[in-house]
Amino acid sequence: MAQTYRRLVLAHRPEGMPDDSTFRMEEVPLPEPKDGEMLVKAIYLSIDPYMRGRLRDVASYAAPVQLNEVMVGGVAGQVVASKNPRFSKGIFVNGMFGWQEYALSDGKGVRTLDPQVAPISTSVGILGMPGATAYFGLQDIGKPKAGETVVVSAAAGAVGGLVGQLAKIHGCRAVGIAGGQAKCDYVVKELGFDAAIDYKAERDLRAAVQRACPNGVDVYFDNVGGPVSDAVIVSLNTFARVSICGQISQYNNESPELAPRLYWVLLTKRARMEGFIVSDFGARWGEALGKMADWLRSGKLKYKEDVVRGLENAPTALRGVLQGKNFGKQIVQLADMPH
Ligand code: NDP
Repeated sequence: MAQTYRRLVLAHRPEGMPDDSTFRMEEVPLPEPKDGEMLVKAIYLSIDPYMRGRLRDVASYAAPVQLNEVMVGGVAGQVVASKNPRFSKGIFVNGMFGWQEYALSDGKGVRTLDPQVAPISTSVGILGMPGATAYFGLQDIGKPKAGETVVVSAAAGAVGGLVGQLAKIHGCRAVGIAGGQAKCDYVVKELGFDAAIDYKAERDLRAAVQRACPNGVDVYFDNVGGPVSDAVIVSLNTFARVSICGQISQYNNESPELAPRLYWVLLTKRARMEGFIVSDFGARWGEALGKMADWLRSGKLKYKEDVVRGLENAPTALRGVLQGKNFGKQIVQLADMPH
């Protein structure tokens, strides 16, 4: 085993898009687990949009990363040494181990993974936080009914790609909004959405939404906010539901504006808009991930991963997610899977 390992710590709080000075690479000695601890070798690091929020020193639903602290992140890895009776050496686990090649853990919040069920990378995607987000955000917040029209933005992404497929399972018309023809083709041809809108190519996005949704929009699963969401909101049907999952178009914006017209639409359409954080549903993750695994096995759900190698590429991968360069769930592979 290596004697040292690398980790990325927060060096500066960025204004706008994070850059190369935001994180600092450190090489430190490999620690020994004490009683109750285990040492995990990271294999797959999840890169997620929420990470931008953790760089900001403001009160929010989760604490910010402190300067000089290891950057936060979900990881799938292998236990390589253990003094914790619940986790034996060799098993695969998922936990919030951060942007580092090895991590010590006391086992709190750690799940064990069975690589026979699905590749362990799925624990940071379809069978992990993004999967649970799609499941609860659509079912519990969006409350889709068969025959309704569901629109989802960032439709080719980790969450969005699943939302459209789940909408089809609920018997709905699924319409995706994504950046670029390749992503639009993917959601229709590979994932089975009924229609897709390339928001980067459409001159009149409102008209494009109306064309793709001839019966209006009953559920809008909002991953992006900004002009894309403005174009969808005006097509809401009476008693529509808007599930506010993310506002990625605003994450680098230090002073986003409130939109007065929105409230007028909500009033006249008697529509309901509700934000949620997937951890609110923590007690029911077993339900979500169990169902997602069943649908994955039966071929009703598909997923795509965008994997880059090496911890040094994590900052670029995060910037890529904030710019739409990822195509599918963004992952950084830190080590090979053992044979
Ligand atoms: P994705 O895999 O969907 O990657 C993000 C995508 O967002 C990009 O690929 C890009 O797709 C799109 N995007 C980036 N910038 C913009 C922009 N300015 N305008 C429009 N679209 C943009 O990420 P996830 O699936 O992991 O997350 C999707 C959303 O869900 C995020 O907003 C995230 O914060 C939120 N989320 C919320 C959770 C919750 O608990 N509420 C939990 C998990 C995620 P394109 O090329 O199509 O533009």
